[in-house]
Amino acid sequence: MVKVRCPVIAGEIMRYSKYFIPTYKEIPSDAEVISHQLMLRAGMIRKLTSGIYTFLPAGLKTVRKVENIVREEMNRSGAIEVLMPAVQPAELWQESGRWDFYGKELLRFKDRHNHDCCIGPTHEEVITDLVRKEIRSYRQLPVNFYQIQTKFRDEIRPRFGVMRCKEFIMKDAYSFDADEAGADKSYQIMHDAYMRIFQRCGLRFRPVEADSGSIGGSYSHEFMVLADTGEDEIISCMKCNYAANLEKAEVKAPAETETAKASWEPLQDVETPNVHTIDELTAFLSTGPNHILKTLVFVADGNPVAVLIRGDHQVNEVKLKNFLRADTIELASPGLVAELTGAPMGFAGPLGLKSKIIADHAVRGMVNFITGANKEDLHFRNVNLERDFKVNEFADLRVIMRGDRCPRCGGEINFGRGIEVGHVFKLGTKYSKAMHAVSLDDRGEEQPFFMGCYGIGIARTVAAAIEQNHDRDGIIFPISIAPFEVALLPLQMHEKNVVEISDGIYNACLADGIDILLDDRDVRPGVKFKDADLIGIPVRVTLGERTLKQGMAELKLRSEPKEVLIPLADVPGAVRAKVKELYDQIK
Ligand code: ATP
Ligand code: MG
Repeated sequence: MVKVRCPVIAGEIMRYSKYFIPTYKEIPSDAEVISHQLMLRAGMIRKLTSGIYTFLPAGLKTVRKVENIVREEMNRSGAIEVLMPAVQPAELWQESGRWDFYGKELLRFKDRHNHDCCIGPTHEEVITDLVRKEIRSYRQLPVNFYQIQTKFRDEIRPRFGVMRCKEFIMKDAYSFDADEAGADKSYQIMHDAYMRIFQRCGLRFRPVEADSGSIGGSYSHEFMVLADTGEDEIISCMKCNYAANLEKAEVKAPAETETAKASWEPLQDVETPNVHTIDELTAFLSTGPNHILKTLVFVADGNPVAVLIRGDHQVNEVKLKNFLRADTIELASPGLVAELTGAPMGFAGPLGLKSKIIADHAVRGMVNFITGANKEDLHFRNVNLERDFKVNEFADLRVIMRGDRCPRCGGEINFGRGIEVGHVFKLGTKYSKAMHAVSLDDRGEEQPFFMGCYGIGIARTVAAAIEQNHDRDGIIFPISIAPFEVALLPLQMHEKNVVEISDGIYNACLADGIDILLDDRDVRPGVKFKDADLIGIPVRVTLGERTLKQGMAELKLRSEPKEVLIPLADVPGAVRAKVKELYDQIK
């Protein structure tokens, strides 16, 4: 009848009085975002310590429902479920080169034999090790292994409850192909599976292009649940289907124009005492930031490089890092800036600079601009490219901003926010080459596997659904991931006939496979209504004194304000129809 659901376990567990959903009214003071507040208040999760949570029964049920959707769609796409260990030996990470590279998010420890170990934040190394030992021939490919397993990342600032925590459940999948074309196909299959998964979770989401570092031939999409509270900024074109996260969003280079040499004015010094920032400079010189050229010194893998950018633009460090093919980049210290330019911070400029100079495309269009003069309290006016200094290379190095057009079609760009719930990534041969994971091709020659990896944050998906679906009374769960599909609220539990009628409806619904919670507590009606709303159960059936006298029950959707009256005998059928209707809406 209805689509995905947890297998319903009939019996006492569906009776509120015997179950465990500890709800409360007060807004928890340490919860910043609404999903975190509501998951605590609705009795879904409890914090053990920073970034580490226990799932209470209702929270766990929701998690299981998301897992079931994920599992079904992964199986449908041909992926095969495995379960890998949480604890991983350092050797594998040393082989892949990530032991030194991963940083403090990797929780490391030594076992009693003094072996270095870590708790897996992700499983590329483990799966690559498995596949290199088990799969020998291209005939066994493609293969895609997945698991739903607990990860640990020692996040610097865990926050927003299970949205960004340290210990979390992830679905991670890894595809192995014999060649690039195969890997592209595997990627597309996962992309499509993710579309179905998030659709079935009832979410409003969008896949966006994401940064994939500087590995050749790799690409990546993030699946973003659209929500104002999202940590990620995303842009999308209003005309074509281009969408990207902010760090990836391309900015099209302006069309080449003839250098307007005729308009070049003679270079001038300007004294700018105690003027350090762009704001101070624009105010001091009564000009716009677009007439100023910023010179920023970065250190890329230990080498200084000067980056030129228009005053009203911002350097996109991800683009810069990829362009330089660097493993690390950071802004140079004031000391290094002084050493390199001969002036304190705030007065750097490209004239006479010895380091490599790269510039954002927009710098090409600047004429008679202002730069630092590499001398304290001094700037230059009427600086011009070519005449006064040379740039080694131009590139797209800046953050897209309002007013910029779509890099694909020139359409208008929309800025929004999202929560990353899933990530698909074409890895290429990065891990297989580093770890010598090969299969034999049809000529018997060793070829590295072409890999992809694909993650979904299970509990983050639940939290994102709540960010998107709530009101002042609580959660409004999409039915496919709600802890219960239906709440049955008999209001007078001390009346024998009420208990009988509600037991009848309850049993009929259970027999229909409906995931129903019978609120059999002997508490005030207001408490039952408030809890059902807070927990976000999509369908509510109320057996109240007044309507029972007329032989009727009230049927109400959590997402709609009005209830309807249903003759008691028709309640199970009406419930079934409503549940089906809600599932059909999110097909
Ligand atoms: P983020 O950028 O949010 O830190 P990430 O890009 O590091 O995440 P991935 O390695 O792509 O994360 O992990 C796959 C998925 O796991 C993410 O899309 C997200 O849904 C989930 N996830 C990652 N980190 C966390 C976390 N700290 N808490 C909960 N879920 C997480
Ligand atoms: Mg990611």
